[in-house]
Amino acid sequence: MPLRQKRMGMPMNDQLSKYLEGAGRVAVAGHTRPDGDCVGSCLALYAYLKENYPKLTVDVYLENVPDAYCVLEDSRIVITDGRDAQPYDVFFALDASDKERLAGAVKYFDKAKKTVCIDHHISNPGYGDENVVYPKASSTCEVLATLMDLDNISVKVAEALYVGIICDTGCFKHSNTGEQTMNIAGKLMRLGVDFSRLTDEVFYQKTYTQNQLLGRCLLESFLMFSGKCIISVADRKVMDFYKAKSSDLEGVIDQMRVTKGVEVAVLLTEIGELSYKVSMRSNTFVDVAKIAGHFGGGGHIRAAGCSMSGTKYDVINNLTRLIEEQLKNHD
Ligand code: AMP
Ligand code: MN
Ligand code: MN
Repeated sequence: MPLRQKRMGMPMNDQLSKYLEGAGRVAVAGHTRPDGDCVGSCLALYAYLKENYPKLTVDVYLENVPDAYCVLEDSRIVITDGRDAQPYDVFFALDASDKERLAGAVKYFDKAKKTVCIDHHISNPGYGDENVVYPKASSTCEVLATLMDLDNISVKVAEALYVGIICDTGCFKHSNTGEQTMNIAGKLMRLGVDFSRLTDEVFYQKTYTQNQLLGRCLLESFLMFSGKCIISVADRKVMDFYKAKSSDLEGVIDQMRVTKGVEVAVLLTEIGELSYKVSMRSNTFVDVAKIAGHFGGGGHIRAAGCSMSGTKYDVINNLTRLIEEQLKNHD
């Protein structure tokens, strides 16, 4: 019995079947603190495999899915606990630029018979047995779409892919948006994706807490280097006051980035004692992936991040030294 299944009498024609030969148990996992592309790609792959390879057992491992992405069907099937499963035949790592970013799922990656890494981060070293890493793609969802038979996907799969694409492209406005992105998005629309509703619910709608935090971060932000760099810190006190999670800050850095005259935006979130999550964005020339890479993080030229320890003053000093260097070299 061939593994490749047929739907509606149409033969499947995808690039994923070659990774699934002889497989019975499959794991799908994304990166720590999952964003829309991470959740979208994991749920799209899950639904696609369940629909087209019904004999497979598929487990999805993610940390807590932020509420905004729970509009996607299947968000409840995600496994967040650290259960000890038998080794998987195939482990798909999605949107995770390095193995450690898989957080709690690393143990399944290490024991899996075959690992497949699907990603779009320039800093990805290709840590899987098989690697499909396209740094020019807007999102992991875009890469994943190129591996699927898009003529034979359900609306559920299409919506999950669409959500990932809009989240990583800022609704098709970031410079990572390309011709292929738009072609795929067009195909997803044709399949019946409710794009207006999804765009509002996933991207624009904010809780009251999120709006308050946005205001607070903008109020407390400051400019450096003649207004070319904007920095803000969401410290524990502020986060606790609003009872906020770090995912409640989604979108704050994007508003900082569009401040007139700004080239680099930096948002620090205090995630533990003397420990900060660093988010960086640039507009035209500063390579923030290089700066994040210097501190053990990664990402893309225009959007990157890392974790850093020390006081907020240490962190800001260390980051701004490298930012200033790039700003000076450009003058
Ligand atoms: P964020 O600012 O969290 O939205 O992240 C922007 C980009 O940087 C994303 O593509 C992330 O994958 C990447 N990134 C963020 N934090 C890290 C980190 N600690 N290590 C590697 N990449 C990161
Ligand atoms: Mn991501
Ligand atoms: Mn991504």
